[in-house]
Amino acid sequence: VKLFGACCGACTAGAIVLNQFNMSDFKEDIFSTNIMYLPGVGPKKAELLLKELEIATFKDLLYYFPFRHIDRTRFCTVGEINPDLPYIQLCGEIVSANVEGHGRGKKRLVLRFADGTGSIDLVFFQGLAWIKEKVKPGQKYIVFGKPNVYNGQISMVHPEIDSPEAEGKNSGVFSTNINGIYSSTEKLRNGYMGNKVLVRLMLNLLNIVLHKIPETLPDYILNRYKLLSLPEALLNIHFPQTQELLDRARNRLKFDELFYIQLGILHHRAAKISVSKGLVFDRIGEHFNYFFANNLPFQLTAAQKRVIREMRQDMGSGKQMNRLLQGDVGSGKTLVALMIMLIAADNGYQSCLMAPTEILATQHFESLMQFLKEMDVKVSLLTGSTKKSVRTVLFNELAEGKTSILIGTHALIEDNVQFKNLGLVVIDEQHRFGVEQRAKLWNRYNTLPHVLVMTATPIPRTLAMTVYGDLDVSIIDELPPGRKPVTTLLFNDSKRLRVFGFLKEQIKQGRQIYVVYPLIKESEKMDYKYLEDGYESIVRAFPSPEYITVVVHGQMKAADKDFSMNLFVSGKAHIMVATSVIEVGVNVPNASVMLIESAERFGLSQLHQLRGRVGRGADQSYCLMMAGYKLSRESRKRLELMTATGDGFKIAEEDMKMRGPGDIEGTQQSGLPFKLRITDLSKDGELLEAVRKIVASILLQDPDLSHDENKVLKAGLESAAPQKDFSKIS
Ligand code: ADP
Ligand code: MG
Repeated sequence: VKLFGACCGACTAGAIVLNQFNMSDFKEDIFSTNIMYLPGVGPKKAELLLKELEIATFKDLLYYFPFRHIDRTRFCTVGEINPDLPYIQLCGEIVSANVEGHGRGKKRLVLRFADGTGSIDLVFFQGLAWIKEKVKPGQKYIVFGKPNVYNGQISMVHPEIDSPEAEGKNSGVFSTNINGIYSSTEKLRNGYMGNKVLVRLMLNLLNIVLHKIPETLPDYILNRYKLLSLPEALLNIHFPQTQELLDRARNRLKFDELFYIQLGILHHRAAKISVSKGLVFDRIGEHFNYFFANNLPFQLTAAQKRVIREMRQDMGSGKQMNRLLQGDVGSGKTLVALMIMLIAADNGYQSCLMAPTEILATQHFESLMQFLKEMDVKVSLLTGSTKKSVRTVLFNELAEGKTSILIGTHALIEDNVQFKNLGLVVIDEQHRFGVEQRAKLWNRYNTLPHVLVMTATPIPRTLAMTVYGDLDVSIIDELPPGRKPVTTLLFNDSKRLRVFGFLKEQIKQGRQIYVVYPLIKESEKMDYKYLEDGYESIVRAFPSPEYITVVVHGQMKAADKDFSMNLFVSGKAHIMVATSVIEVGVNVPNASVMLIESAERFGLSQLHQLRGRVGRGADQSYCLMMAGYKLSRESRKRLELMTATGDGFKIAEEDMKMRGPGDIEGTQQSGLPFKLRITDLSKDGELLEAVRKIVASILLQDPDLSHDENKVLKAGLESAAPQKDFSKIS
């Protein structure tokens, strides 16, 4: 493929551009040149580009890809338009041009546009006079834009309008039938930088840099995987010569993006492994065996057995275990954690289990005490409310090695917690802890303990590989036998009486009920009020002493919270009104109904977590979602998905598709560590896995990337490093 083609229209254009351009404005590296110096930009527009699109340099602009491409040879008719269509192109006639409305923001130019199949209004709020003068009623025009609905009418706001002859005039040799569309913002458009201008800037940029774009992948990879060269790919993503080249350009750029992320992650991991040898836990001894033979109250599921085997292999191998255990709510992760903590004890090492809330830590402590009944394994509990006198004793026992398992909250990362020989760290519900917080647990010791991170937020595999790129992943994909799927139903407020009647019936049968209110930020007074109002209306509908209702939320004192929790856990209270604090891990098998108020205000994964609180006993359980009348399409879709499936992985995948990977709960706090410019993790999973394998095999043969053919990779990795802090995700 000839990059500039045979014609030299654009070459001349480029030459003219370059003549106007003072070469001394370039820094040594042309790609880091301030975007201000690009012909057509200047300081004002540069500022806008930076503010609105984070484009500061030539390179930033070069990697600002069109969010979609449209085939300019394809037209839609007015009769075919519906508001769900993306950008479309119409060909027809302007019938009339009228200025309507008065006053700021109301005055608008309405062009009536028709093509024989129907007519549509094109609406402009800016540049009215200018546009009105330019368009000539009765002439043919090509219109490009996105249809939308206003006041029940389909219209197009601020579409592009061209006369057919003008098509392609500006693009010279780059001109093709397929045009990139760049997303722009209102501020940019007001600053005269809509799509058209961005296209022109891109053209100027490519004229200057195209021949200077360095290759980032070695030849042998390009050849083996039949990838376009980087300049070809960058040219064709912006100005595709053919549909096929556009597809290949996309593929190459995604490959590049994923390749360098995986190279960073795996290279960093290899470096870490070579410095930190893992403790070797190669014995299965008395504690494990006794527990297995005498105390284990049920058969392990096949999935539990498999993940325990995977962990035993890690811990026995001499490398440090760094594993993410994913398992849907109720899949029995705690038991798995307990069994590997017993292996640690058998090898003479201490373990700790860190939980995100005091309630959960306490519950873990109690269930472990139960599991370990009559066994000689000392388990202790440390939380923020552990009394000073108890702490002193606890710290002593810990330092002397008398305590085998320490369970707790954030309190575990305090400086005065000193183990004698910490060998295993288990972190439950991982997304509640920041990465740095996790590391604080073991930074103070010379040898790194094995690390197991457990999460019930089923992170789609592709995302896990990117966000937790250097954690191995184990999955429990099976629930213990005998669990009935939770019947999930969606109601609007008009059905409240019926729903309450159903709750009363359940309580009569001896069941317990959760009622959960959204509380987006626990400090927000409004939400807080919302819960209180809710509590009052529940108490009105379920009066005491016939019904006992308790309330639990994040702003209560720990002691009050525990008091309420205990009433519910012990079965003395029928109803627990709560915020999503109960989302995480609470286990009350007798609770059979989860009533979620304003369900549309919860995320999908959060709803799934909440639903996981019921269905833990032998009875049929219910998740009832109450929602307002006016649901957005998106909300309705989410809630209907909840009623359709109980599979947490499916929900997570769908969640990712609907909201985009940056937004998945569980990763929100940390956010994606990388800005993905072209890859869509919800769709490019296969490519990601393939690229990861390629990277792994390269590193296997050349761990330091010191071979000649891999020099370009080493350079690429080093230049990528400052923006992509791989240590953050390890
Ligand atoms: P999660 O994965 O959500 O943390 P838990 O570890 O809390 O799940 O387990 C949920 C419940 O299932 C607990 O009461 C636990 O004792 C029980 N359980 C765990 N494994 C099994 C099994 N193999 N068979 C039956 N019940 C099990
Ligand atoms: Mg759990």
